Amino acid sequence: MSEPISRIVVIGGGQAAGWACKTLREEGFGGTLTVVADEPHDFYERPPLSKAVLSGDASLPRLFPEDDVAGWSIDWRRPKRATHIDSHAHTVTLDDGERLAYDRLLIATGATPRLPDPRWAEHDDVLTLRSWDDAQRLKRRLADARRLAVVGGGWIGLEVAATARRLGLEVEVFERQAALCARSVGPEVSEALAALHLRENVALRLNCGDVAITPLASGVRITSDVHDTQADLAVVGTGVDFGLELAREAGVATQQGIVVDQAGATSVADIFAAGDVTQHPVLGQCLQSWGYAQNQAIAAARGLLGKAAAYDDPAWLWSDQYGTNIQILGTPCPDTRCVVRQEPLGTSFFYLDAADRLCQAVTFDQPRHIKLAKRWLAARRVLDPDMLGDPTSNLMRLR
Ligand SMILES: Cc1cc2nc3c(=O)[nH]c(=O)nc-3n(C[C@H](O)[C@H](O)[C@H](O)COP(=O)(O)OP(=O)(O)OC[C@H]3O[C@@H](n4cnc5c(N)ncnc54)[C@H](O)[C@@H]3O)c2cc1C
Repeated sequence: MSEPISRIVVIGGGQAAGWACKTLREEGFGGTLTVVADEPHDFYERPPLSKAVLSGDASLPRLFPEDDVAGWSIDWRRPKRATHIDSHAHTVTLDDGERLAYDRLLIATGATPRLPDPRWAEHDDVLTLRSWDDAQRLKRRLADARRLAVVGGGWIGLEVAATARRLGLEVEVFERQAALCARSVGPEVSEALAALHLRENVALRLNCGDVAITPLASGVRITSDVHDTQADLAVVGTGVDFGLELAREAGVATQQGIVVDQAGATSVADIFAAGDVTQHPVLGQCLQSWGYAQNQAIAAARGLLGKAAAYDDPAWLWSDQYGTNIQILGTPCPDTRCVVRQEPLGTSFFYLDAADRLCQAVTFDQPRHIKLAKRWLAARRVLDPDMLGDPTSNLMRLR
């Protein structure tokens, strides 16, 4: 018979950690629940940071009401960092030397922005956006700036560009690839994203090669293969670092992220992991999405308690830019063909495999199509491309 669980330690105080704590208490865990978090704030959501918070919303986007969190009797260690896991002794060491014993451990440490050149971190006018504190700093700087350079044409970079345009700044986006968000969507969607930003007078510098940033007396100079410019401020959104050393030193198997099974278990006994730091147990990729951080963490918390859990949701994320809601469901597949459906309300891009089954749907202001696409994906439904692309056809008939 397995030992009763009386001490759970969670490393990380973000969205995955928050959902895991909520689930652990709701599933009846009554023992000591310790959360080691290097940010001083209660659990909060990051999506508003690049949207409402940058454009003025002053309140922390709490994940749960304060009273709910207080009711979970969390034994907080914050702001503190976990620096070492001893999986044999079942202990976690913190940056102040404290050592915490655990029966089960959950790693939910998220990710941090990665700079192409570490020296950029020394420039006051080069910023990144991950945390509430980052957003406060960036908001202050945007208020005084006239020209913004965004390095990286991925989701975060484009959202910052859109918000900055709405705040009245001149914006240039530098992207090394020939297309925007090329890692996560097909060329048709990249083109639609480019059109959206061009319409709002963002200068797009695609295929720009390596970018160099030089500090000036005031602002920065951005040098690239295609264009040189000066800006008051540069925001860098060129990908993240999953900080896997902590897990690796404990013997936990990692690839792109921490490898977990559908119940959130890692390769090491009694260590579980959740959120951005993990790769999807079935898709084998780190998704970095709000929906994944919530639902995979719920599964991991159940798995940690020894309850049934089998996480296998499709990839899903959204982005809001200039009031347009963009949703991405599923992942690109090889030999895909794109069916575009243009309606007065918005446009949807359906990517079908060779057997006309959906692999990815990307919608611009068409949330209803995402709901339908979730069903088609789950049922592996063979679709009629002509009907899909005909804006006069009733998609509900494909339900
Ligand atoms: C600006 C921004 C906008 C986004 N917008 C969207 C969106 O529109 N749609 C969408 O689907 N997704 C969006 N995302 C992604 C989504 O927010 C993330 O996928 C989600 O926050 C991941 O949650 P997490 O708990 O895994 O990681 P995080 O939320 O990053 O939490 C991890 C926490 O662990 C802490 N930590 C790390 N190491 C340690 C350590 N050793 N000791 C103690 N604490 C540690 C970190 O500081 C952090 O507080 C956005 C992300 C950002 C940054």
